[in-house]
Amino acid sequence: MGHHLKNTSKREIFMKITLAKSAGFCLGVKRALSIAHDIAKTNDKVYMLGDIVHNEDVVRDIKAIGIKKAKKLTRCTKKTLLIRAHGIPLKIRERAQKLGYHIVDATCPMVEEIHKIAIAMESQGFPVIVIGDKKHDEVKGIVGQLRYKALVLEDTKDIPVKKLKSFSKAAVVVQSTQNTENVSEIIAVLKTLIKDIRFFNTICKPTRTRQDEIRKLAKANETIIIIGSKTSANTKRLYQISKSLNRRTYWVQSADGLKKSWFKGVKTVGVDSGASTPDSTTNSVINQIRSYP
Ligand code: SF4
Repeated sequence: MGHHLKNTSKREIFMKITLAKSAGFCLGVKRALSIAHDIAKTNDKVYMLGDIVHNEDVVRDIKAIGIKKAKKLTRCTKKTLLIRAHGIPLKIRERAQKLGYHIVDATCPMVEEIHKIAIAMESQGFPVIVIGDKKHDEVKGIVGQLRYKALVLEDTKDIPVKKLKSFSKAAVVVQSTQNTENVSEIIAVLKTLIKDIRFFNTICKPTRTRQDEIRKLAKANETIIIIGSKTSANTKRLYQISKSLNRRTYWVQSADGLKKSWFKGVKTVGVDSGASTPDSTTNSVINQIRSYP
């Protein structure tokens, strides 16, 4: 063994850890966090409806800088309402304004774009279909921009075939973090049912890049570690994509979730993290993997 390897542990020589380039905060989350930090500096009555992102560590930091979580909106004079990257339904925004909140909007521009498309298509007379998770705030925000009730589809099993056959036209938008393959499957079915279908693939660019990268990583490595909160929908999606290509895919929230046995005899490990996972968490996971004898 060469002299230059003196400080390198045996494990590092044999195990190669590759971190996805697109791992960690997406543009929208970075932007929302910087807006949050900026207003927290000058304003001590900042409220948010729900958590800024689906990540416990980030939520703790936001609390520490003084931003509070509002359970419900109340009449007020000097409060600021910070709108999260996912956006909110129009009705809630209007109610907040009426009650006296000053609104600071951190809705991701790519989510705003989805709102604009949905509103424009509805005003042109198209019923709107949203492909996304029914319970996710981004989806509620999209649906909440519209005058008529939009149909939300999570997968092909959800498609109300009979009902849709009576649609002569429809416009389809997609939650920004959806799985591209799931969306293609749904669209293929919708095309057979609705004659005039306008499809807007609004999965955002950072999500596409991330999904392309995890597909490559899952194929090129023996073991894959996905890092992120169990409440994070986009982390779940990365996990599902990776697991479908590589059975040795594991999802952890932090270094504590790792098991030594996952790395026994393993020479290549791919690591990726969700759009709301801080780099500090990812780094501590990588350090922990490196420390295994
Ligand atoms: S996932 Fe995409 S659309 Fe959603 S906040 Fe991040 S960059 Fe914006």
